[in-house]
Amino acid sequence: MFHTSLKISPSRTKALQQAGIYTDYDLLNFAPRRYLDRQTTLPIFSLTGDGEDVTVIGTVDEINMVNQGKKRLEVIISDDTGQLKCVWFKGVSYFSKAFEKGDLVSVFGKVKKYGRWVSMAHPDVDKLNKPTSSLKTIGIIPIYPSSSFFKKTYVTTAVIQKWIRQLLEIHKIDDVLPETVTDESFPGRSEAFRMLHFPETMEEAAIGRRQLVFEELFLFELAIHYLKLRQSKRSSGITFKGPGNFTHTFFTSILPFKLTDGQVDALRDIKNDYTSGGQMNRLLQGDVGSGKTVVAIGAILMMLDNGYQTAFMAPTEILAEQHFRTLNEYLAPLDIDIRLLTGKRTSKQKREITEQLASGKTQIVVGTHAIIQDNVSFANLGLVVVDEQHRFGVMQRSHFLNGELSPHLLSMSATPIPRSLALSVFGKLDISVVKGLPAGRKPVRTAIRTESKREDVYRFTDSVLHDGGQIYIVYPLVEESETLDLQNAVEAFDKIKNRFPAHEVGLLHGQMKSDDKDKVMTQFSDGDVRILVSTTVIEVGINVPNASVMIIEHAERFGLSQLHQLRGRIGRGSRESYCILMAGHKQTSVAKERLKTMVDTNDGFVIAEVDLRLRGPGDFLGTRQSGIPEFKHADLVEDEKILSKAAKAAEALLHDDPELNKTEHQVLNKTFKTYLKEKQTFFEMM
Ligand code: ADP
Ligand code: MG
Repeated sequence: MFHTSLKISPSRTKALQQAGIYTDYDLLNFAPRRYLDRQTTLPIFSLTGDGEDVTVIGTVDEINMVNQGKKRLEVIISDDTGQLKCVWFKGVSYFSKAFEKGDLVSVFGKVKKYGRWVSMAHPDVDKLNKPTSSLKTIGIIPIYPSSSFFKKTYVTTAVIQKWIRQLLEIHKIDDVLPETVTDESFPGRSEAFRMLHFPETMEEAAIGRRQLVFEELFLFELAIHYLKLRQSKRSSGITFKGPGNFTHTFFTSILPFKLTDGQVDALRDIKNDYTSGGQMNRLLQGDVGSGKTVVAIGAILMMLDNGYQTAFMAPTEILAEQHFRTLNEYLAPLDIDIRLLTGKRTSKQKREITEQLASGKTQIVVGTHAIIQDNVSFANLGLVVVDEQHRFGVMQRSHFLNGELSPHLLSMSATPIPRSLALSVFGKLDISVVKGLPAGRKPVRTAIRTESKREDVYRFTDSVLHDGGQIYIVYPLVEESETLDLQNAVEAFDKIKNRFPAHEVGLLHGQMKSDDKDKVMTQFSDGDVRILVSTTVIEVGINVPNASVMIIEHAERFGLSQLHQLRGRIGRGSRESYCILMAGHKQTSVAKERLKTMVDTNDGFVIAEVDLRLRGPGDFLGTRQSGIPEFKHADLVEDEKILSKAAKAAEALLHDDPELNKTEHQVLNKTFKTYLKEKQTFFEMM
């Protein structure tokens, strides 16, 4: 629906819609992509002709069509200090008609010197005879995001500026933010739009944009904190009396190692949430290998001690099976009923598990999204743990939050999201960071190797195998097609078997039956399989401490976070670990930076920062999945400082006036309610 007070032709209306502009408001917020700085106007005598970009103002003296060889148009203009020759080789007939002798013109271009002439080829021109509002050669010229539709319908900077000027006249633009939130540096809303579209200096353009960015981020943060306050008021109805026997036994006599400080801190956060009376919604962030699973087990046992069931969800069957094994190993002495529920279970098994869950006999269910199917119900579900939460869609994540049940929710993620971003984007979640790695971990050494070094790499592999080590060889998903992917892995598998005939080689890919996958994983885990050729299915969570070398084929095709996840599979035991990135010679500069970052650091948070910078927040967080609203002005990475300022301001305002009822907050209240309605789907799902 196009709704504007301007008169705009149908074809241009269409072009605007293509750019997502439907209303006056959209148009006002249509931000320039960049600005051309054409503030330098020089007298002709001072031009050096060494390629400087300048504006010259003068009168047209001569218009000459030159027919030597290629046809060209020469227009001589002069000011009080000299003469400048403007030359056109293209659009000659159009421009020859555009000028008349005596016209006052302003030209912008690169100045070159030819013989005695200083000249400009194909300058931008404004005629100054009659007053015009939009100049492209003098001052600061906004450049708007363009499209073929814009070009076809001549939606130029001048046209957009004309519309905006009209809009600023038609509409009275109220300030939305109360004075307590803004500071003196804010010019006011109407003025901010003026500065955005008609800046007199580059500084002004920046100030205007800054206010609009702040407003946008402020509303976003206000929504997050507003909803978070409401959620925390909701009681979970779960009575928690504190950790009991299961928890104590596990930590004092079963767990074979000492918890890291990070793990202790995270467990304390969880216990506090349990006792707070509200529903926990906590994100546990920690680098790969930081030991998040043990924290989850602690959280589960505390719930069991109080008589509640737990569901432990993992994004893949392999990972669910691994967690199932780990839980069984650790919890065997405690005699707890643990079941595995994945899509691959027979319907008879499923029925049995569902019954046991409904009756309350089964205390822990581990599984994939099979757990959140409609027919699964629980006797008294107290906690849901979601591992590798970024792998789940928002819908799946919110299943338990917005459903009838209100169990506590613990999400875990090994894709560290830079803290500022996480706080603002997942503002409704509380975050615990499992800092540091268990003692004694040796950093993985990482190297890049090209094809010519393959045999060296294999000889090194021989020596590791000889010492009893185990190896991962990982292939990327080459095509979107799973069949091709499979074919590649199978071919590679044959090659590797031939090259390492003395050792057992296993193959793991996404299309294998779950029993077969399980078998290979168990064989690898037990050390019977020494080399595991795999596609990226091993990416998340797999834990085989004796495997100390990972060769990643076509490493340049992987994303940075993905490479880090993969590498996180090694460096888990006492062996020196090595990650070898096999890369082709042809690499984009971004691919080069990814690989270099891998070599330079093992720190997941540093890697996340780089990845975020290389991919931008939308791609990094998976905009589709996270559903993060598109911002008109703000960039979550570039504007990080403004973001945290906005977050603080929003919190303070809600502290002062939780329902925005004060008189001075009326305008904000109205805008805010509209905003919440528009972005409802996103905020509900967070
Ligand atoms: P992630 O955080 O990547 O999920 P895991 O939970 O899989 O990591 O733990 C990785 C490995 O570290 C496991 O083998 C686990 O037993 C071990 N581990 C966890 N915590 C400690 C600790 N405090 N001390 C020693 N080893 C630990
Ligand atoms: Mg894990």
